[in-house]
This record gives sequence, structure tokens and C-alpha cells, in this order.
Amino acid sequence: LRQGLDKTRRSLVNQLKAIVGQGPLNQDAVEEIEALLLQADVGVAATDRIIDSLQKKLREEALPPDQAIAYLKSILRDMLDRPLGQSYNPTFAPEKDALNIWLITGVNGAGKTTTIGKLAHLAQKSEYNCLIAAADTFRAAAVEQVKVWGQRSGVEVISNPGQNTDPAAVVFDAIGSAQSRGTELLLVDTAGRLQNKKNLMDELSKVRRIIDKKAGDAKIESLLVLDATLGQNGLRQAEVFLEAAQLSGVVLTKLDGTAKGGIALAVVQQLGLPIRFIGAGEGIEDLRPFSSYEFVEALLA
Ligand code: GDP
Repeated sequence: LRQGLDKTRRSLVNQLKAIVGQGPLNQDAVEEIEALLLQADVGVAATDRIIDSLQKKLREEALPPDQAIAYLKSILRDMLDRPLGQSYNPTFAPEKDALNIWLITGVNGAGKTTTIGKLAHLAQKSEYNCLIAAADTFRAAAVEQVKVWGQRSGVEVISNPGQNTDPAAVVFDAIGSAQSRGTELLLVDTAGRLQNKKNLMDELSKVRRIIDKKAGDAKIESLLVLDATLGQNGLRQAEVFLEAAQLSGVVLTKLDGTAKGGIALAVVQQLGLPIRFIGAGEGIEDLRPFSSYEFVEALLA
């Protein structure tokens, strides 16, 4: 993780230490910190929240350099742990001996297929009985790509090879198979053509409805895969998915390719969703469950 966040850390930490190192934190330093956070793509709303907390603390007591960084870390951790001020279960794992359905959405190119492959691998390693539904039926290449990841991770892929197949039908069949086989984790791949927003929303809403209807007492999660290198633009795209897929969390990918890792804070603040996994590389092992502690330490250590 530390390596993945290297670019962000290098641009953030030295400057932050230089600002803070000048002595007890003063108003000028706070403004410089504000600029640094905006540069790292923390976003206006999240930056405001951080700076407000810092100002409030400073009215109560002076903050010498080491305490200033420690306090900043605690603010960041708290924000990441409590989207919209509410805490959520920090351990995020599929329930054993039960069906868990994870709907995986995102714009084409965000890293959706790669993430599904990595999740399948993680599930195999943790001895979950896993299955993938290839419901991006619009692109034949997408189904093939998911199958390649299925082979790599040793997880079977359910697809429907017919032309113009309805994604909801693939999902319907896949849930049926999952139920009869005692699958514990069903990963559902979906389309991500943003060029046609209305169709995409309709399709996703339909897939989501089928899942809700057919899932019985399965535990449903809906994860948005977001490309961290897109920064605030990625966040604007996210809004399309919020409602249609009824998102419950985010997977942030490509953190290794950006100096704007601060986007994690913007995601939590602006979408009100927890980050569940982060991707920091193209390999099958390059996905980790998200931990606010690890993230903040990797960012500001
Ligand atoms: P999809 O269209 O959303 O399914 O995206 P893909 O899974 O095909 O990924 C698009 C590109 O991003 C591929 O070249 C992946 O190797 C790359 N990619 C995905 N996740 C990561 C990541 O965490 N880090 C890096 N550096 N590249 C990634």
C-alpha cells in the first residue's frame, strides 16, 4: 500500500512536514495545509471539514509539529471511517455458508473486470465458494475478458453466449445456479457505457431489481469501481450509479498511478459511501481491503 501511494505521499508529506515543522501551527500554516489538500484532490467539501476541525482544535490548544500531524491523521481516519458522520462495520467480508451477491459497477476502463478477477482470487484464497456472472453482455470482448480472469483465479463464469442477451436474464440464471450450488459469493459484472446514460441507468436498475427479487435472504452489496486517476471527474460519473445500482461502497483503483490519492477522502465525503477495497496495480494480488489506519499511515507516514 505504501508503495501504491508513493506518488501521493511524496507530493504531500514533505510539504506538510515543512509547513508543520515551522513551529506551533498558526493561521498561515493552516492555509498552506488547505492548499496542499486541494492539490491532492481531497476536494472542497472534505478539505473544508478537515480545516474546520483543525481550526477548532487550534482555538483550544497550540499544536506543536508532531502533535499537529498526529491530529491531522486522526481527523482523516475519522472521516474515512464515518461517511456522512455515520460509522459502518469496518470488517467487510462475505458471510460464510450463505449467499452473498456483490454487484460490481463502474464506467468502462475504471478497472471493473480486473477488480472482479482480483476479488475472485481473494475469495478463492479465503476458501469461499465463488461464482462470476458476466452480465456486460453488450461487449462480447468484456465477457471474454471476464472469462480470462475466471481462469486465472480458478472461478467459474456464468455467461449467456446468445446475441443481444439481456443482462438481467444472465443475472437471473446466475443467481439460480448460485442458489442450487451453495455458492457463497456471486460477483456480478455489469456494463459501463457512459455514452448512453439513460440506457445504462435503465439496465442497471433492472439488474438491481432482479437481484433484489431473486436473492431471497442473500446479502447484497453494490460496489462502484472508481478510477482514482480521474479525480473529481470520476466522482461526477459516480452519481449516475448511486441510485440505479443502490451503491453500498466503493473500490478505488489505480492508486498507484496518481499523486491524487486524497480522492479517497472526497469519495467518502461527497458520496457518503465507505471505501471497501483499493487497487494499486494490475496484478491479481494488487487489491486490498481498505483500512483507514493503513491508508492514512501510508499517506502521511
Ligand atoms: P473495465 O473496463 O472497467 O472492466 O476495466 P479493466 O478491468 O479492463 O481495466 C482497465 C485498465 O486498467 C487495464 O489496463 C487494467 O490493467 C488497468 N487497471 C485496473 N486496475 C488497476 C490498478 O489498480 N492499478 C493500475 N495501475 N492499473 C489498473
